[in-house]
Amino acid sequence: MALRTDQGIVLRSYPFGESHRVVILVSAARGKIRTVAKGVRKTKSRFGGRLEPLTHVEVVLYEGRDLDTITQVDVIEAYPNLRMDLDAVAIAATMAEVVDHVAHEEEPSSALFLSLRRGLVALEAGERGPDVLSRFLLGVTDSLGLAPSFDSCASCGSPDVHKFSFPAGGAVCESCAPGGAVRLRDGVLDHLAAVRVGDEADERTAGEALGVLRRFVEYHLEKRFSSMAVPT
Ligand SMILES: [Zn+2]
Repeated sequence: MALRTDQGIVLRSYPFGESHRVVILVSAARGKIRTVAKGVRKTKSRFGGRLEPLTHVEVVLYEGRDLDTITQVDVIEAYPNLRMDLDAVAIAATMAEVVDHVAHEEEPSSALFLSLRRGLVALEAGERGPDVLSRFLLGVTDSLGLAPSFDSCASCGSPDVHKFSFPAGGAVCESCAPGGAVRLRDGVLDHLAAVRVGDEADERTAGEALGVLRRFVEYHLEKRFSSMAVPT
């Protein structure tokens, strides 16, 4: 039994026993961390709002056999502006849901953690619209080794791409296109390629680009994200 300090972003929490809560965090060093905050339901003030979802915290944990117990919480970043805007909250909730699904316990996930933190920082700074979520999802696919191709055929590398295929891994040329490959509107692939490298992208294709990326992620993770709203 020992005390340990960890840093992470709260993904969600749920009631545990009569008065405790299980709090799930994602950390860079240890992936998903399941902890228990004791007595928080009776004495709400003990940790205050410091364990609200999407709060970046430093916690001191008392290591237990199954769950580690939180003994101390310090807020690193609470993202107060984000919380006052329903659109931002919806986008952030989607990010948390995706991270919760793909992060694992005892598996370092610094790329995933950084994608989430970068997304929250952008929302906190007032950035809105589909590209915030697209950039986050591209970071997630990257961290999972699932990064879709946009400017060359995922099968043969040809730059002459006309269609997009979820199972093939992104853009495909005419001769490699498997059944079910779809033709995207002009500019959608360019849009995603620009978002990936942080370039300016055409606003008119932002919603469609996010829609394609969302379905790509859902296909490969075999999961529909309930909160995956397409912001406008
Ligand atoms: Zn090809």
